[in-house]
Amino acid sequence: MEFKNFSLFINQTKVNRFAEDLANGKITSTVCKHCGTQYYPPRADCSSCMQSEMEWKELPTQGNLLTFTRIHVPPEHFAVRQPLMPFSSVQFEPCPIGIIEVGKGLPIMGWIPKMDIKKIKVGMRMKASPFVLPDGKITIVLEPV
Ligand SMILES: [Zn+2]
Repeated sequence: MEFKNFSLFINQTKVNRFAEDLANGKITSTVCKHCGTQYYPPRADCSSCMQSEMEWKELPTQGNLLTFTRIHVPPEHFAVRQPLMPFSSVQFEPCPIGIIEVGKGLPIMGWIPKMDIKKIKVGMRMKASPFVLPDGKITIVLEPV
């Protein structure tokens, strides 16, 4: 899997392994071999000490929800395609999105696709998992544990 298959439209990156790991069910970070700073999303270059020797490390997947909101116009590949002519062939379903904190204060952002937004509470325990969309792109989803 290439990074362009992550749910963002990015073609060039030095952290392509991130998408490969997601495809294999792992959410990974990078850790600077010189100063120990950990990065999520992974970075190839350390902004603390300006070195580029990084080690890949799998992140824990469970954490407490820090915050959430609802996206009313998500990226098109999340939308449901229907014959809604003459207005649009795409129907957007508002979807909650949240950030959980794992490890040493590392935030993981993900979609919360299967929950009523009224049942989502800051501080609730959630699990982050890679998820392959119908178009083959991969993203991260959060669900309660
Ligand atoms: Zn460093």
